[in-house]
Amino acid sequence: MGPPGVGKGTQADCIKNELMIVHLSTGEILRAEVDAKSVIGINAKLYMDFGRLVPDNILIEIVTERISKSDCQNGYILDGFPRTLPQAKGLDKMMHSIGHDLDCAISLTANKDELLDRLIKRGEESSRSDDTPDVIRNRQNIYWEQTAPLLDFYHDKGILKEVDGLGEIPEITKRILDILK
Ligand code: ADP
Repeated sequence: MGPPGVGKGTQADCIKNELMIVHLSTGEILRAEVDAKSVIGINAKLYMDFGRLVPDNILIEIVTERISKSDCQNGYILDGFPRTLPQAKGLDKMMHSIGHDLDCAISLTANKDELLDRLIKRGEESSRSDDTPDVIRNRQNIYWEQTAPLLDFYHDKGILKEVDGLGEIPEITKRILDILK
């Protein structure tokens, strides 16, 4: 978990390679649906382009289907999900029903100005339609309003670990791996 631009996707990729588990990014899955112009994609785009959250039921359906696949049986990293309390509760339920356990919730931290700079730069380099200053600000606000409260949810379960998201990429990967191992 962590605000937009903190490096969740980058770190999840490094850790996936190290631990040989699946990296499941709901942002990537949704962007693929948008590109494919599927019903989910056409719907999701209405929210994503404004930096708003796609409705919980769509996300819960996507993740339930994905983690039931055989390549997820040895473990997976969820990146970008859950983002709301109903999603977190939905995740609990779906994992429980297929005999999975959530081992750890990693919260990557960084200060807001650093994040805005990183995202504006990413917007200039990539074609992500939601990396423009106004939409970024919106995504950041939504993170603090709707997703940050989940930190308490996982803290209360005793599985939350905070990791400083500032520094060199390999250094941060090591901080996370040290916790997971
Ligand atoms: P970032 O974390 O950098 O903002 P993501 O790639 O994780 O970007 O997500 C991009 C967009 O996809 C979000 O702004 C949101 O519209 C949508 N999205 C991704 N995951 C979820 C989720 N779990 N719940 C609702 N919307 C989501």
